[in-house]
This record gives sequence, C-alpha cells and structure tokens, in this order.
Amino acid sequence: MFDSVIIGAGVAGCVAARDLAESGRKVLVLEQRDHIGGNCYDEKDEHGILIHKYGPHIFHTKEQKAYDYLSRFTDWYAFGHEVVANVHGKLIPVPFNLNTLHMVYEQEKADALEKKLIDAFGLESRVPILKLREHEIADYVYENIFLHYTMKQWGQTPEQIDPAVTGRVPVLISHDNRYFQEPWQGMPLHGYTLMFEKMLDHENITVEIGVDARSRVTFSEGSVSLDGQAFTGDVIYTGPLDELFDCRFGRLPYRSLRFDFEYYDKPDYQGHSVVNYTVSEDFTRITEFKYLTGQQAEGTTIVKEYPFAYTGAAGEIPYYSIANETNQKLYEQYRGLVEHIPNVWLLGRLAEYKYYNIDAMVLKALELTDKIKKDKEV
Ligand code: FAD
Ligand code: UDP
Repeated sequence: MFDSVIIGAGVAGCVAARDLAESGRKVLVLEQRDHIGGNCYDEKDEHGILIHKYGPHIFHTKEQKAYDYLSRFTDWYAFGHEVVANVHGKLIPVPFNLNTLHMVYEQEKADALEKKLIDAFGLESRVPILKLREHEIADYVYENIFLHYTMKQWGQTPEQIDPAVTGRVPVLISHDNRYFQEPWQGMPLHGYTLMFEKMLDHENITVEIGVDARSRVTFSEGSVSLDGQAFTGDVIYTGPLDELFDCRFGRLPYRSLRFDFEYYDKPDYQGHSVVNYTVSEDFTRITEFKYLTGQQAEGTTIVKEYPFAYTGAAGEIPYYSIANETNQKLYEQYRGLVEHIPNVWLLGRLAEYKYYNIDAMVLKALELTDKIKKDKEV
C-alpha cells in the first residue's frame, strides 16, 4: 500500500515526504509526538502568544534553494535577528563586533583595537574565538561571552568541544549587529507548524501522529518490516539511531534542555527577542517571542533554557549531538547495523548525529530524495 515510510515529522521528514509524494510515491509518515514539525513546532499558548515549544527557531540561509523550497509553503516575516548578551547587567551585541568593542572599551583604546583587528583580519571578516587568542580583546570575549555560556550549554569549556560549535558565533570585524549574516532570514509568517501542515497536505501522504515507529517498523539483518510484513519500499529514519537498537552498544551522548515558559501581563519583558546570559544565571538565554514573530499583543511570553545531559528518561528530548571522536565511533557502530539494509536511509539531526540548521536539513532531505528517485522510478 505504501512506497515509502518516513519516521519522524521534523523538517527532515516533512521535506522528504513531500518530495517523494510529488514523485508519485505513496508515503506513510509516523511521528511519535502528538504533533508534526519536530523541534520547529510552534503553537499559540493559553494567552494567545505564538511560542516555539522547543526553543527559538529563526530561519536563516545563504542557499536560495532552501529559501525557495520553504517559500512554496509559507510567506515570511522578514527581519534581521539580533541578540544581546547580558554581561553583569550591561546589554551588548552578540556576536561580539566592532560596535560591541566600542561599548566595552573607552574610545581611544577601542579605536586602536579596531585598527589592529582590521589590519589583522580585514573589514567584514569573521574570526572564531579560538583563532583570536593572541589578540588583546580575546580574553574579554572569551571570559564574558563564551566561557560560562559554553559551560552551561555543554558542561565543557570552549577548548573541550568541537571548534565548529563556537565557530557558529565568530567575532565579526564589522558593525553588523545581526546574529546571522545570510541574505535570507526571518520567520514563517503564520508559523512553522502551518508551513509543515501545508507541506504534508498532499494526496499521497498519510500522517500518523502519536506513534512510536518502533512498534510498527522492525529492522533486522538486511531487511525491514512494516506491521509484521516484509517492506521493500524506502524507509527514512530521522530519530536517534541508538534508540532504534535499544542502545545495545551504550547511549549516544546528547545535550538536552528544559524550557521554562513565563507569561507577563505587560507589553514588554526585555525589549529584545533573545538575551544571552553569558556570565550569570543557570539558564543560557531568555527568548521573548513577540519580538521574534512580530506579534502584537497586550501581554508577553518568554522562555528560559536550562541545559542538561540527556539520560533517556521518559519525557526527555535529545536536542544536541556532542561531536567528538569517541561519540563518532559509537555512532558508526550503530550505523553499521543499518548500512547493509539497502532500503533504509538515515536523515536528520538525530539520525546522522550532526548539528544541522533548518536550511541545511531542507537541502539534505532533497539530496536524499533525489538519490532515491534516481535509483528507483515508481
Ligand atoms: P527533529 O526536529 O528532531 O525531528 C525528528 C522527529 O522524529 C521528532 O519529531 C521526533 O519526535 C521524531 N521521532 C524520533 N524517533 C521517532 C520514533 N521512534 N517514531 C516516530 N517518530 C520519531 N535551526 C535553525 O536553522 N535556526 C534556529 O534558530 C534553530 N534554533 C534551534 C534551537 C534549539 C533549541 C534547537 C534544539 C535546535 C535549533 N535549530 C535551529 C535546529 C533545528 O531544530 C534542526 O535543524 C531541525 O529541527 C532538524 O530537523 P530534524 O527533522 O532532523 O529533527
Ligand atoms: N556561544 C557562547 N555564547 C553566546 C553564544 C554562543 O558561548 O553568547 C557558544 C556556545 O558554545 C553555543 C555555540 O556558541 O553552544 C553556538 O551558539 P548558537 O547560538 O549557534 O547555538 P544554538 O542556537 O544552536 O543553541
């Protein structure tokens, strides 16, 4: 009855489902949560404020293909996302840039430092903190922006984690206060959930929510079955790979988050969409949703994010894979269990154990479905 089964209805699963459905395949999507959209899911809270249940998601990309693809299913609220750090009560732009420099040093010193940085790296360049070490501002930026935030987020110092992670937020040798510099950035005008609903709204797609796929799909030596019958169509798995095999080699480590939402009966809480707490507090950041979405409302809802090590306990969600050699080896061990099943594909932040943004996920999903379509016509 189905040509393809997709496990998980996050970005990866939704894009893959739509693309395969448009090629004429009958697609079954199984999602264990009670909603689609994965971690991008948004909904109105009891006060009517559109919130992101799993933390703030801002779409940003330099890849027109990713933007064009999503634009088939949504219009956009376009804005340049800005973040400030609360450093001992003072709010300064992050990524640290030349404007930040002038806020934290007195004028003469800031002018001299600015010149040195431009001479060393060039105007408009992006310098990862770990490459800035010999420069005078490095100690300030490291101590006040990266060290404590990274300790909270990862339980490790910036040197101990994959350099690509802190490299996501380089020091900007420019006066650009935006968090992202890519040409396309903003929010789906009526939210992510509606965008994904439109994507899945296709005659060839059947979506079942509240279903743990492990109760329907079994993976064994070289083959896969659906509801007890051998299944030879393509299966795309977007969940955590270790949990598919009862963590038989041990758990793949992830960081998780607790989200504490608070509503205030006043129009403004912090005047910014995101404030990072880089030297104090147990939470990493506070997001005030109305500044992300542009929603006009009398009250306001915020969320605080408290990171912790994922244990697999009921209700916990694995959000961030932890890239290092040991974890990659363990991941490869699990990958070995599906590698020999020719119709099973791993896709997504969890199944590939990679730190993907939304745009990269869209492109990865389309790359995979192109391959599947090329290999087998229906
Ligand atoms: P997910 O969204 O995790 O979807 C996987 C789905 O599979 C889930 O719905 C899960 O329930 C389901 N599933 C798993 N196992 C099973 C099973 N056994 N049976 C059935 N279903 C199953 N990216 C950006 O571009 N911009 C941002 O601002 C941004 N902010 C982020 C903030 C946070 C706090 C986090 C954690 C991530 C952020 N991201 C951001 C990244 C973005 O969330 C990911 O790129 C995207 O969600 C990845 O999609 P996915 O489909 O791979 O994974
Ligand atoms: N980071 C930091 N201080 C900040 C912002 C980021 O130390 O004010 C570091 C931290 O290690 C974080 C990483 O840079 O995990 C990547 O930040 P990003 O905002 O991309 O994280 P995400 O939004 O994916 O959680």
